[in-house]
Amino acid sequence: MDLGLKGRVAIVAAASKGLGRAAAETFAREGAEVAICARSSANLKKAAESIRTATGREVFHRELDVTNPKAVRDFVVAVEERFGSVDICVTNAGGPPAKKFLDISLDEWRAAVDLTLMSAVYFAREVLPRMQMRGWGRLLAITSVSVKQPIDNLLLSNSIRSAVTGLMRTLANEFGSSGITVNCICPGYTLTERLDELIGVQAKNAGLDREKILERLSTQVPLGRIGKPEEFAAMVAFLASERASYINGCSIPVDGGWVKSLL
Ligand code: NAP
Repeated sequence: MDLGLKGRVAIVAAASKGLGRAAAETFAREGAEVAICARSSANLKKAAESIRTATGREVFHRELDVTNPKAVRDFVVAVEERFGSVDICVTNAGGPPAKKFLDISLDEWRAAVDLTLMSAVYFAREVLPRMQMRGWGRLLAITSVSVKQPIDNLLLSNSIRSAVTGLMRTLANEFGSSGITVNCICPGYTLTERLDELIGVQAKNAGLDREKILERLSTQVPLGRIGKPEEFAAMVAFLASERASYINGCSIPVDGGWVKSLL
């Protein structure tokens, strides 16, 4: 199937590693112009170089923190100047810390809101008017299966990602008539550094080794294994494509069947 992504301009936020990086590589493979950001310039360069080696395409990259609205604005402007438009935007950020309710300070709550919710607001504010002018756009948010089924100890994620889901669902209503679709993609357990970090926390709390925790997580998944970033990225590319033109306002899990609800 031709996804129709050739020549489209795609921003993927927080994309030097993990799910964002995998999405960026998939866009490049599909012939899109790709722009990525993250805080560490060394990791960004490494990601851009490895994507170029794998796909033959240059990746525009900029060091920034997604919690800084001015940096996000400047990045979007720079991408538009470089490629002429912004057609696709995937919002993403690092995951908030895994903690129980009484261990989370108010400052940590505020920081998590900035990281998870406000970063998506900053990108949406910049890209939606540009997409509206062109009458075409795809806004996608990387959230989590925690919006469908809360995960123990991931209180910040369970709470704030629901706000992102509410935001995106409302934007889908507001911008649909401009030819823009807005959807969320909810990763389940996927092998990235973030998962490795969570496995470390669980192993410490339970006094078990990491392999045992990995095995426990895998048995929660009907497919019996943890996902690969490229399996997640395939859904991102599809939802961003021409072929997904009638999919709007959804939150789609990519989790091997981990969420047990009917819908
Ligand atoms: P990851 O492997 O830790 O990668 C996170 C990426 O985000 C890195 O490139 C990191 O680069 C960048 N980043 C972090 N904070 C940033 C900031 N403030 N500004 C700009 N860039 C930032 O994480 P991942 O597994 O890809 O996860 C991506 C998102 O999906 C997270 O929110 C995570 O909680 C969520 N999620 C993941 C899973 C999973 O199993 N992997 C499951 C459910 C939900 P720098 O550190 O250099 O900035």
